[in-house]
Amino acid sequence: MGLTGIQIFKLLPKTNCGECKLPTCLAFAMALAAGKAELDACPHVSPEARAELSDASAPPIRQVTIGTGEYEVKVGGETVMFRHEKTFFNKPGFAVLVSDTMDEAEIEKRFLKLAQFQYERVGVTMRAELAALKYTGNREKFLGLVKNACVKPYSLILMASDPSVMKEALEIAKANKPLIYAATNENCEAFGNLAKEYNLPLAVKGNGLEGTAQLVDKLTAMGIKDLVLDTSTRNIKDGFQEQIAMRRAALISKYKSLGFPTITFPAEMADDLMKETLIASLFVAKYAGIIVLSDLAGESIFPLLLQRLNIYTDPQRPMTTKEGIYPINNPDESSPVLVTSNFSLTYFIVSGEIENSRIPSWLCVMDTEGLSVMTAWAAGKFVGDLVGVFIKKSGIAEKVNHKKLIIPGYAAAILGDLEEELPGWEIIIGPREAAHLPVLLKTWK
Ligand code: SF4
Repeated sequence: MGLTGIQIFKLLPKTNCGECKLPTCLAFAMALAAGKAELDACPHVSPEARAELSDASAPPIRQVTIGTGEYEVKVGGETVMFRHEKTFFNKPGFAVLVSDTMDEAEIEKRFLKLAQFQYERVGVTMRAELAALKYTGNREKFLGLVKNACVKPYSLILMASDPSVMKEALEIAKANKPLIYAATNENCEAFGNLAKEYNLPLAVKGNGLEGTAQLVDKLTAMGIKDLVLDTSTRNIKDGFQEQIAMRRAALISKYKSLGFPTITFPAEMADDLMKETLIASLFVAKYAGIIVLSDLAGESIFPLLLQRLNIYTDPQRPMTTKEGIYPINNPDESSPVLVTSNFSLTYFIVSGEIENSRIPSWLCVMDTEGLSVMTAWAAGKFVGDLVGVFIKKSGIAEKVNHKKLIIPGYAAAILGDLEEELPGWEIIIGPREAAHLPVLLKTWK
């Protein structure tokens, strides 16, 4: 990113029309400078300004989109070496390998695992998003596999080195916007033409950093922009070092030939899943765009997903849960009602304890800008009148046949104001620690 927010602002229309979904041109300029908005969001930029801005506003590592719909994966678009400098933007996609050497039962098992291994954390669904379909010589089987995968929701990587096989596969899967893997020294021109013809992202498999950069130059000269890099390295030490070298080259040296997201293959770097998982975890931290695994198991993919979630959350913003009413354990109209803040950790601890109690309950989560109950109370964001207004607006009164509300023990001081704001409600002060909630809930009548 070459220009500052102010420099970008000078090139914008300055009409503050709001069509970019930001209130002012200045806000849009700042978001663009921070890599949090795309230039296309403003329809009023003059062609001259667009030409000047599109280069300047592009992140040093190009963002590439693979797939469509809810499993769409965006990779790249990164602007910093270290998360604490700002944030990482696009989490790496996890892919599971499915090959034409597998029997039908094994293939279905892989797809089933992609569907099954999904986890909810802090209001986010964590899962692997991609199926990497590999051609090893059985054309008919491979094309059948592509057909089968196309009707699944997962994003696809099509892996074949033969341009004629790839073309047939693309005819089947083009609407799914798969990643074409991979252009090599042998097939570079043919694969480049396929990427252009179908307007799809293309992986580049070069020989080390230098060989990969040379291939990238050839393909960008053909007008191809959406590339994903594979240096062919399959040993841990060199693979890890290359990831760092590529990020440094793109960000610090502004070396455009390596300014693309990467794809890594722990699947080809270990012969057991645990070792493979450890290698994958290195690439989650530094700096893979896509990580291809040989298989999925709960004990391998869950820690990787959790690690990814932790690294790819914005350290400048507390994690929040959406404001609203959360039914837990199938509550009905006589079930207890609790209220808490929307700091994700608070939500998960409280909801977890309610779940453990097995008592059907309604949990009302109030937007406190991600602050915990105590901090929100101290900051004036979880006080009696605000909580009262939230409860009235939330619609919980229509869901229950009583007017009893359990508030967190740490917010006991809001009792008086809350009773004033909610006349007719009985306010019950809950425990300070969520761990004591089950005892309280079990005495609920
Ligand atoms: Fe300004 Fe363009 Fe956004 Fe309108 S759409 S506010 S002109 S940046």
